[in-house]
Amino acid sequence: MANERSNPCDVSEEAAVHIRALMDLFRRVGQQQGWTIGSGYGLTGWTEVTCSEGHEFSVKPLDLVDSPKPFGRDLSEPWCKKCHAAGWVAESLTLLKSVAAAQGVELTATDERDTSGDGHIVFAAKCSKGHHFEATGANAWNWRGKPVEVLCPGCVKDAEFAEGFAKIDAVIRETQSVVVKQYRNGADVRCRRGHLHTFRVNDYQDRQAIRPDFCGECARLGKFQEFAEKAKDLGITVLESRWIAASRPHQAVCFAGHEFGLVPNKMKRGCPECPRGMYGGAVPPHDVYYIVSGLDATTGKETVKPGISSGSGYNRLRQHADDGLVVQHLRIQGMPIGMARDLERFVLDGLDQEGWLSTRGVEYFPAAALQDVMDLACEWYTDQPGLAPRPFVVDAEDVLAPVQAPAVPDVVDIDADVAVVFDSQDGARMDLHTHATEVA
Ligand SMILES: [Zn+2]
Ligand SMILES: [Zn+2]
Ligand SMILES: [Zn+2]
Ligand SMILES: [Zn+2]
Repeated sequence: MANERSNPCDVSEEAAVHIRALMDLFRRVGQQQGWTIGSGYGLTGWTEVTCSEGHEFSVKPLDLVDSPKPFGRDLSEPWCKKCHAAGWVAESLTLLKSVAAAQGVELTATDERDTSGDGHIVFAAKCSKGHHFEATGANAWNWRGKPVEVLCPGCVKDAEFAEGFAKIDAVIRETQSVVVKQYRNGADVRCRRGHLHTFRVNDYQDRQAIRPDFCGECARLGKFQEFAEKAKDLGITVLESRWIAASRPHQAVCFAGHEFGLVPNKMKRGCPECPRGMYGGAVPPHDVYYIVSGLDATTGKETVKPGISSGSGYNRLRQHADDGLVVQHLRIQGMPIGMARDLERFVLDGLDQEGWLSTRGVEYFPAAALQDVMDLACEWYTDQPGLAPRPFVVDAEDVLAPVQAPAVPDVVDIDADVAVVFDSQDGARMDLHTHATEVA
């Protein structure tokens, strides 16, 4: 018996019996739902039905007899989607009307129903501000299932735009930026360092991007500054005037005068030409502070550049002279350890606070900043605890001679204990508060 092969014809005939039985079952269930069953395409195809309320839709008979709860509903509940949604639709309509009344929205019913299939009536709506839109009962709820706070999408957008513009105003004030151009949906702004940026208020993402740290250029400058400071810790001066990338070489020079490409994320080794450990583990300290100026060959701008070096500082100053910064205003040598960098930091921070914008990198400024640079250097120098100020008279005649011929990159050597500040350009004596200092 079990080893008898079935004839394929017998199989389909036997199946037909089951299919007829399932179709009968479908018709019985349909009757219980009060449906009128129209034409269809068999057990697995679509069959048109009409519910007792007159709603027309299609079902697949197999789906209905195959599941203990078709559409997730018991046989006692209406399986017709519209009949089932009727309660929810009525409740939503009531809510829509009360929400609209409370918000001054006029509703005019149309003959249309929404695309959900639940049977929500589509209304033509007009808010008190004159926005025209369509609304259904489904729109009366927010995503939390609570009555919606603002029904009119135009008013919602207006509020979001207003919030975006308020954010722009706050960021502008906080960052001392200025609005260059105002748009309906945003603004072009200039950061306090002069970089352009566009704020948009269109969507949530746009509004999130309205932050005090909006300026990508400034972020790169900050990164560059951090890199240059780390290099100084290794006794290396970064010559590159801008940040390129963490994995790319930036032109740099070591204490010994070797020029090489310094890669920010591989800088531990230091100068590749200096033998490892040549400084006995310690890097020679920066002990020279200088201020130079001239026509910067890189930018073509009259420039002042404060900076630090070590030893006599000759190499660094010669490089600046080659770049066009031939006039030297100040050079203090033999500063106690760490002080040159302190002074440098103080001057750069001061310039930033005064609103001076660098012409390249983070240490080159317009020549007009010279007075501020000198004043800041003097201010720092006279304020050092542990350094006793002592009167010092500058003889401008003595110190001017070597720098009046800028073609000769000679320098004026000044020791920390006989600090001299002078202006080599017009011969006027700088006010150093007539104090130089020395280690107490
Ligand atoms: Zn129905
Ligand atoms: Zn509106
Ligand atoms: Zn910026
Ligand atoms: Zn080296």
